[in-house]
Amino acid sequence: MVELNGRCLCGAVTWHYNGPRGRNLVCHCESCQRATSAPFAAFVGLDPNNLTWSGKINHYESSPKTWRGFCPACGSRLYFKSAKWPGEIHLHSSTLDDRAAYQPDQEVVCEERIGWLDHLPDIPKHNSFGASPEPKD
Ligand SMILES: [Zn+2]
Ligand SMILES: [Zn+2]
Repeated sequence: MVELNGRCLCGAVTWHYNGPRGRNLVCHCESCQRATSAPFAAFVGLDPNNLTWSGKINHYESSPKTWRGFCPACGSRLYFKSAKWPGEIHLHSSTLDDRAAYQPDQEVVCEERIGWLDHLPDIPKHNSFGASPEPKD
């Protein structure tokens, strides 16, 4: 059992969970990439019967009987759920209040994984946005 809380960027939507731990997937499918405008999506898999929401949520049906929820005020992505897996809802891990508590269990749809992710360990790291850009040419 696990107790978790989360919110969108603006705070208009919050969620609370107290229930069994589910699958924590990092998904590399192109649909997740386009839906989130990010190179992959990291999900906390939860039992929808133990999850409560507050605030208004809109959703988009990204494929038949598959819905992606988001905050209509700030646009934060909140969840993925599909009729294929009725016992699970997948919340975006970055909505967690304690984002550092997230531990992915597996990566999925790796055939659609963005190749440059492999190069991240090899490029410079900064704690801020880094140095001002140097003019090129
Ligand atoms: Zn919001
Ligand atoms: Zn996906």
